[in-house]
Amino acid sequence: MSGFNLAIDGPAGSGKSTISARIAKKLNWTHIDTGAMYRAVTLKAIELGVNLEDESSYRFLESVVVHYDFDKIFVDDRDVTEAIRSEDVTNNVSLVSSFPYVRKKLVELQKNAALHGNIVMDGRDIGTVVLPNADLKVFLTANVEERAKRRYKENIKKGKDQHISKVIEDIVVRDQKDSTRKESPLRIADDAIIIDTTYLTIDEVVDKIIELTDKKENKHGV
Ligand code: C5P
Repeated sequence: MSGFNLAIDGPAGSGKSTISARIAKKLNWTHIDTGAMYRAVTLKAIELGVNLEDESSYRFLESVVVHYDFDKIFVDDRDVTEAIRSEDVTNNVSLVSSFPYVRKKLVELQKNAALHGNIVMDGRDIGTVVLPNADLKVFLTANVEERAKRRYKENIKKGKDQHISKVIEDIVVRDQKDSTRKESPLRIADDAIIIDTTYLTIDEVVDKIIELTDKKENKHGV
């Protein structure tokens, strides 16, 4: 059997990316943040000035390459790790990721990236669509106030002071769009283990998932 595939899904602010990055570091595996890929496409589309509402605008994906190198994400040869966190990108990414063409292109890249295993991939549809045969699927949740509080603190660190009520509103809107879209909506895989992170620290969640991974590895001899 090739290496282990760990799928981590959950809504905005559930801690997916931070937790996945930490697990990957501890296990010396590769981390793929698929949200960052959708953000990279959104950034490129905004910069090209194309009509974001029109699915055919994203044909640029035939020639533009989105790829990872360690924890950095690149569009062609440009490092966009910081740029994809802008408000403009955040406000438009749910629209961009709702187009089947965009999803098809990125899911292809994501499946390829997982071929050799020993990866932690986080997103919204990893356990349901991208890696339906993942060795372990985890779905992270947390109540909306806690998720907004985490986002708020992250923003403050980056020097962005947005009122907490606005952060809550943005998260609720994004959750709503991500879970009701037609194509691969945010959904809990039937065989996913749900972890409510509201009252847990990052390290507690990381340890819990590593423990689950160890158990699966021992059972299957992955
Ligand atoms: O994880 P993050 O919040 O950075 O993801 C940004 C957006 O990308 C999500 O709100 C969602 O619209 C989209 N996304 C997706 N499928 C994934 C990962 C992210 O549709 N697997």
